[in-house]
Amino acid sequence: MTTEVLAKVRWSCLAAALLCFTACASAPRRPPTPADYPRTRPELTNYRETSRYSDVRSFLDSLRRLGAPLAFGSIGKTSEGRDIPYIVASRPLVSTPASARQLGRPVVYVQGNIHAGEVEGKDALLALLRDLTSSATPNALDSVVLIAVPIYNADGNERFAPQSVNRSEQNGPEMVGIRANAQNLDLNRDYVKAEAPETRASLAMFNAWDPDVFVDLHTTDGSFHGYALTYSPSLSPAAIFGGVYARDSLLPVLRERMRTRHAFEVFDYGNFLSDERGLNSDTAAREGWATYDSRPRFGTNYYGIRGRIGILSEAYSHDSLARRIASTYAFVREILSLVGEKGPAIRSLSARADSQPLAWGRSPDSLQIVAIRSELIATPRQAGVIREDLEKTGDSSLSQPGVPRGERRTGRFRTIRMPVYDRFTSTLDRTPPAAYVLAPQETEAVALLRLHGIRVERSDSAWTARGEGFVIDSIIQSPRPFQNHHEVRLKGRWERGLQALPPKSFIVSTAQPRGALIVYLLEPESDDGFTTWNLFDRDLQKGGRFPVTRIFDLSRRGRSVNRRSSASATQQPLPN
Ligand SMILES: [Zn+2]
Repeated sequence: MTTEVLAKVRWSCLAAALLCFTACASAPRRPPTPADYPRTRPELTNYRETSRYSDVRSFLDSLRRLGAPLAFGSIGKTSEGRDIPYIVASRPLVSTPASARQLGRPVVYVQGNIHAGEVEGKDALLALLRDLTSSATPNALDSVVLIAVPIYNADGNERFAPQSVNRSEQNGPEMVGIRANAQNLDLNRDYVKAEAPETRASLAMFNAWDPDVFVDLHTTDGSFHGYALTYSPSLSPAAIFGGVYARDSLLPVLRERMRTRHAFEVFDYGNFLSDERGLNSDTAAREGWATYDSRPRFGTNYYGIRGRIGILSEAYSHDSLARRIASTYAFVREILSLVGEKGPAIRSLSARADSQPLAWGRSPDSLQIVAIRSELIATPRQAGVIREDLEKTGDSSLSQPGVPRGERRTGRFRTIRMPVYDRFTSTLDRTPPAAYVLAPQETEAVALLRLHGIRVERSDSAWTARGEGFVIDSIIQSPRPFQNHHEVRLKGRWERGLQALPPKSFIVSTAQPRGALIVYLLEPESDDGFTTWNLFDRDLQKGGRFPVTRIFDLSRRGRSVNRRSSASATQQPLPN
């Protein structure tokens, strides 16, 4: 992360400068018009094209040259060496995490283009940056700090190919990038294992800026429904702060504002069960609407387990590019406004999420259970869901990009009452121990914990402590590779007793911010932890001991702990 340029000229000064310039050049006196500001690639091409990487760079360069009050930087480099730009916008302008904290406002991190064929987040975010900073009237930039990352999967964006190849279920534009990054990794399955340089850079940004809200911009690729955009909070039951707050206090308000202020119907993200054969066998006989997944490999779920608010945004893939940009633009703008309005509540939510684990080690009464496995709820609410009817064309012609051959959209929408599976329930909870202790050889897992912003200490000498060790009864390895991994699931049992811990063991106290994330990543039975992603494979043996031990009381470790090695990830150089 480097701050390249700080443009500190306020836009009002820019307007004055432009007026002076036009007067001196004997042009008619006029306030700046939209013609003075850069336009996005879609705006320049009547929405036939999306931005290439060079378009994004030149758009941002134009804003910089105009002196727009923005701070520009790079979160890091892709595997092909492209800088991933970020832009900070707020009034007054801040350019560092420390100055953002001093403002005392919520920090909102909005990311476009994680799946690079899903293009409108990138283009909407550029337009929004321009419009918010060029507006002299009060707006969300007066009450939040916005960090925009418009082209997160920059390498994937540059693999342009016809939409029929790269995004077959999408209504244009004609040429788009690919879903994966240049290493063929899906960045929205990478938030736990963090193998991609893009993920590692974004985790460093999360640690440094500690955004209160993370928004991830996508396009759907499933059902024909009646919503311009669908959304989701963090779905993990472990996201007890940001997940619940977003679901109950933010998203219902955003839905109403999208309808009344922008005439966009929006709804909880999902697909019709009839389109997802095999997803939910219990309800095969009935229609329903079901969301996707609760695991933290997905960015907005991960972000909820960090104790913050994550919001997934999915523009409707069968809408035109122009409409997808408009709905995404409106949704992000409304998020920024609402987060600004609720600033004190959101800031105190973040503070509570961080302080709760600090009490875990001190008072048994304060212990909170952490859900580490979950499933879709069995008793969904009933609600009306809008479906669009398709009809047969009578031949095998293509009626619209993204619509199956031989079918066409009818424009007929029906609201059908059905069960809505929009949340998950825990199937396995764990009470946080005072600490987890990792065997001395687990240096790779420790490096990854630190990348997640988790503080790890190291003991100098051998010690013993009351705790539990996990005896492995069975190791279930997924036969099919996924993201170059054979995911692992363990079954076994905890055995309580005095634990002998060798010198150079790594100690991870849960009494720190992100305590719930520590539990999720390290518990052997977690559905998306380090075990899942093969971090501990070489130490797993049927009948053997899991290399992470639960410790109930850290007070006896005494002076054997080398506190000097406790640097958190936020204090380390950022990968770049
Ligand atoms: Zn996506």
